[in-house]
Amino acid sequence: MSINTKYIFVTGGVTSSLGKGIISASLAKLLQARGYTTTIQKLDPYINVDPGTLNPYEHGECYVTDDGAETDLDLGHYERFLNTPTSQANNVTTGRIYQSVIEKERKGEFLGKTVQVIPHITDEIKNRIKALGKTGLYQFVITEIGGTVGDIESLPYIEAVRQLKWEFENDCTVIHLTLLPYLATSGELKTKPTQHSVKLLLEYGVQPDVLVCRSEYPVTKDIKKKLALFCNVAADSVIEALDASTIYEVPLLMEKEKLDLIVLKKLGITANEGLKLENWKNFLNKFHNPTKSVKIGLIGKYVELKDSYKSISEAFIHAGAQNDCRVELDWIHSESLTEENIDSKLKNLKGILVAPGFGNRGIEGKISAIKYARENKLPFLGICLGMQCAVIEFARHVLNLKDAHSREMNPATSSPVIDLLENQKSISHMGGTMRLGAYPCELEDGTLARSIYGSKNIFERHRHRYEFNNEYKKEFEDAGLVLSGINPRAGLVEIIEIADHPFFMGVQFHPEYKSTVENPHPLFVSFVKAALSE
Ligand code: GLN
Repeated sequence: MSINTKYIFVTGGVTSSLGKGIISASLAKLLQARGYTTTIQKLDPYINVDPGTLNPYEHGECYVTDDGAETDLDLGHYERFLNTPTSQANNVTTGRIYQSVIEKERKGEFLGKTVQVIPHITDEIKNRIKALGKTGLYQFVITEIGGTVGDIESLPYIEAVRQLKWEFENDCTVIHLTLLPYLATSGELKTKPTQHSVKLLLEYGVQPDVLVCRSEYPVTKDIKKKLALFCNVAADSVIEALDASTIYEVPLLMEKEKLDLIVLKKLGITANEGLKLENWKNFLNKFHNPTKSVKIGLIGKYVELKDSYKSISEAFIHAGAQNDCRVELDWIHSESLTEENIDSKLKNLKGILVAPGFGNRGIEGKISAIKYARENKLPFLGICLGMQCAVIEFARHVLNLKDAHSREMNPATSSPVIDLLENQKSISHMGGTMRLGAYPCELEDGTLARSIYGSKNIFERHRHRYEFNNEYKKEFEDAGLVLSGINPRAGLVEIIEIADHPFFMGVQFHPEYKSTVENPHPLFVSFVKAALSE
């Protein structure tokens, strides 16, 4: 049976950061809970081909999919909400659109035509949207348009939506997310910015079907009526989105506002009976009613912008709920840590996570923290660069290789315990050239990793260039470092641990990318458990 895919667009008005990603993920969750197959796509209007080359301070974390796409962090929310994997097709940037149009032009595929924003760029955008529908896997494709209506750079995307609305007619609907600011002096929610934002959309030829209004206060019937009148939207299609205590409440808030039912009706679908959200509600119940709390240090160099570690902090939320506890994160700047202050900074913590990262800044602070955790038997989880730092720390202080380092930080080190693989040495382009995406890993019997995962073969996602240097393998093992996870094809070391320690583990991959509400990642769950027994 072929599926007649329905397309739902989510645009944003008035300001950025209103949470289009969370609204999209919440709607998708509700549709999924009604038994529909759904995927979410993010269109990003910037010119980078992908966010892989962006500094985390720009857009927060770079999220990585199974197929090795470096993507916007919203894809992490999509996976955490839906518990289904995304792929390269779920994130498209202006850079990627132009890159493929220009490639086609160079190949002569446009047969001598002048290549223009309309129709060539807009066609490419439309093709990327339709490609998800054409997989035949989804009844709904929700496409989130990045940026705010009115931005010059998002114009081609809005134009593509206009064309698709025309092409798909009843198989397509547009949700516009806006803000109703509250004026304390007059005690009112104001509708004017929303009216203007909808006017702008109308100027571009797009009539939104549903208005989702972010607001700090309840949106009264009168305000909804007023917005409906000015914006050509049915009064029951103007809904409020109040600030929530956690993003995971938003699907329930949207359920209360009947967002799923409104959208289904617009698309001419009689809603499936019943909404299966038991697991979700169980999670929320645990999240809201922890019986204990545990303080864990998150040590990184981008801690000023918490979005840089989005998947890690969310994975702690999932793992906390699983352990009936609230994980309180102490965000510690690795540059602030020294051998002298390490005791005072870490002594009140029940565990530390040393974060991924690139470059030299803050590296010695990370190494000092790991030394402290190893010597004081404080639970430790090192991710990617965090794992590499654990290897360096062990080499310096246990193997006595005083100059040990990663070749990334010190190309002249006499003990490059972390090094580039041969095939990485000739790479000159930075974009998309790391070891990216899911790789298999085989776990050694009798290790902590093996007992946590409960299986021998796992797949985890990678994003790094440097690797454990196997020339030092024997030396490390003889000194007691357990190499518990190995890539079966390349023999690369993916997990290290120390046996005589309550929890000391470094992983070359990123477990945080795979933690979801319904499937909290076992490494995070076990790490939090170990911290709780401190
Ligand atoms: N900078 C390190 C590398 O490229 C680690 C990367 C990371 O932590 N994601 O290998």
